[in-house]
Amino acid sequence: MKLAQRLYLPEVVSGLVLTAGHFFRNMGAHVARALGRRDARGAVTIQYPEERRPYSPRLRSLHRLVRREDGSPRCVACMMCETVCPARCIYIVAAEHPNPDIEKVPARFDIDLGKCVFCGFCVEACPEDAIRMDTGILEFSSYSRGGMIYTKEMLLALEPATGDGRPTSPVPIPPDRRMPAP
Ligand code: SF4
Ligand code: SF4
Repeated sequence: MKLAQRLYLPEVVSGLVLTAGHFFRNMGAHVARALGRRDARGAVTIQYPEERRPYSPRLRSLHRLVRREDGSPRCVACMMCETVCPARCIYIVAAEHPNPDIEKVPARFDIDLGKCVFCGFCVEACPEDAIRMDTGILEFSSYSRGGMIYTKEMLLALEPATGDGRPTSPVPIPPDRRMPAP
């Protein structure tokens, strides 16, 4: 190492000069744009989560179960999605449907999102269009593996996102992240 490198000071000063250069260049571009120079463009920071970048309509986000008009699941528990799922993360228990025109209904429908690879095969395989991945919700996390299991009730409560991918349902909070009642 040369003496200048061992002192570190020249490198520190050089880093500060570089950072200050970027700062003033960006600031100048933002001021010029505010004054009407439409071609001036500074670095843009998106203030996430208050601001969100529009998502592609093809984005596969958190699943939801589609409801019938009476609020019951459109799913007929045919097990196609469970069978096709490469991650084996869908778990369905079928039950008799009270309506004799509909053969079955899921008594239980869980998806373990900790294992899901978001391939969308379950959506493609469904003959009833009963499962979709269009909620626009990407911020689901948990402190435990169990908290990543989304139940039928959680999936039925979700709504589709807006055209630019903004979620319209609140992000579901798994039981292990909920605040205890006072
Ligand atoms: S997106 Fe793919 S991995 Fe996830 S539940 Fe559906 S089929 Fe399984
Ligand atoms: S493929 Fe569709 S109808 Fe069949 S069990 Fe899955 S969600 Fe229900």
